[in-house]
Amino acid sequence: MVDYHVHSYLCRHGEGEIEQYIESAIARGLTEIGFAEHIPIPDLDDPTGRMPIESWDIYVRDVLDAQRRYRDITVRFGIEADYLPAHMAWIAEFLAAYPFDYVIGSVHFVNDWDFSNPAFRHRLDEAGVDALYIAYYRLIAEAAATGLYDIIGHLDLPKKLCVQPTIDLSDPIGHALEAIRQHDLALDVNTSGLRKEAGEIYPNGGILRRAFLSGIPIALGSDAHKPAEVAARFAEAITLVKTIGYAQCCVYDDRRRSLIEL
Ligand SMILES: [Zn+2]
Ligand SMILES: [Zn+2]
Repeated sequence: MVDYHVHSYLCRHGEGEIEQYIESAIARGLTEIGFAEHIPIPDLDDPTGRMPIESWDIYVRDVLDAQRRYRDITVRFGIEADYLPAHMAWIAEFLAAYPFDYVIGSVHFVNDWDFSNPAFRHRLDEAGVDALYIAYYRLIAEAAATGLYDIIGHLDLPKKLCVQPTIDLSDPIGHALEAIRQHDLALDVNTSGLRKEAGEIYPNGGILRRAFLSGIPIALGSDAHKPAEVAARFAEAITLVKTIGYAQCCVYDDRRRSLIEL
């Protein structure tokens, strides 16, 4: 079993050192753990949402150091990089500058709105839930087309605050999945939704079924922000994806993808 979506104290809204996450992964019998810390973006006003640039060298040092030191588990050097149209020059340059094993592309913002953050829930009233979902899936399709990412993070994130669309989103979701398929990306099957208000995995079973039928592969992630959350509720996730038809999940080495049995 592998967990490819793991954070640490460095992002300022998580806790635990890199090493503690690895120890937790070993205790849970994982064969691989992939760190995907939030990309620093100095020009973005997001004081607790991501790693500050000052911590970046610590992250690289600790992950690469662990990669060399641990023999009974493979440690992958990843990153969760936002798709933010206004910051793509910085993001692209940053991603090209380090030897990542993989890059998770996530949409956390619509324009300047950090829509999954409960602190900005009030903006839902102005924007409208359906408009949020439509804008979100459009950004996902754009993100997939940039060619910068390997995995699309927690698709259907707007449900985090327990808001479900009131209209049929088959088309916007279809366009997003088509872009993901065309650009040969994987989907992050992310169990953190099960721990949040939404009480549901990202993406939901319906979207996963469509992804499976389109031939889109999956990567497994807990989105752990505490060592105890590594591989959290993976048994449920694996049962779900197997029911849908998936028999394999992705692993990455130096941005090359291969598949392992679930
Ligand atoms: Zn986070
Ligand atoms: Zn995320």
